[in-house]
Amino acid sequence: MQKMELSLQETREMFLYVADQLIGSKDILTEADSAIGDGDHGIGMANGFQAVKDKLNSEEFISLGEMNKAVGLALMMSIGGASGAIFGTLYQGAGKSLAEQTTFTSASLNTMLESGLEAVKKRGKAQPGDKTMVDALEPAALVSQNYCDSDLLTALEAASAAAQVGVEKTKEMVAKIGRAKSLNERSLGHADPGAISTYLQLRSMAGFVADLG
Ligand code: ADP
Ligand code: MG
Repeated sequence: MQKMELSLQETREMFLYVADQLIGSKDILTEADSAIGDGDHGIGMANGFQAVKDKLNSEEFISLGEMNKAVGLALMMSIGGASGAIFGTLYQGAGKSLAEQTTFTSASLNTMLESGLEAVKKRGKAQPGDKTMVDALEPAALVSQNYCDSDLLTALEAASAAAQVGVEKTKEMVAKIGRAKSLNERSLGHADPGAISTYLQLRSMAGFVADLG
């Protein structure tokens, strides 16, 4: 029987797992941001997700909404630069919509991705095709609509796969926003670092649920 939902405690463990995976991806993200940015995305995400771990380990949460907001706040407070605001906004936007929910389901995933995407677009003004994390997040959010009634692993794997395709597509995009914008055509051929870290967050969520068996 495939898992249809995570309890609040399991969701906390999922975020702790995601945090460890992102901390472990520091070098990959540093390399990606060194190619078309200033090289700080790996450090930023590692610091940000360490702050997420500290917060999740020291506070109690009564709902999915509160937990997501705490993740967003930790990222926002600890990462300098564009991505602190962007990834902070993603989880805070998700948190507002998830509100009182106390279990994480495939429908919660859809709410989380759609609301997070909307908040990110409002805050950062990036459009699809601008070569940002939106190019990984938007396809994941769209695909997740079709999996609201599926088991959690199937939904997470579909969202993660869509984000991965989005990452690949950023290689063919010329950056229109953020630091890479100044490179013009020289950003071609390189994937966007924020899109990679967005994909890694989804892949880690799927990995956590897969390991639960
Ligand atoms: P900085 O650009 O300040 O050095 P990071 O290197 O940590 O910050 O993060 C860069 C990533 O942030 C980019 O790869 C891109 O995905 C994302 N990003 C930057 N600006 C925006 C924006 N306005 N909207 C969405 N994502 C953005
Ligand atoms: Mg950077």
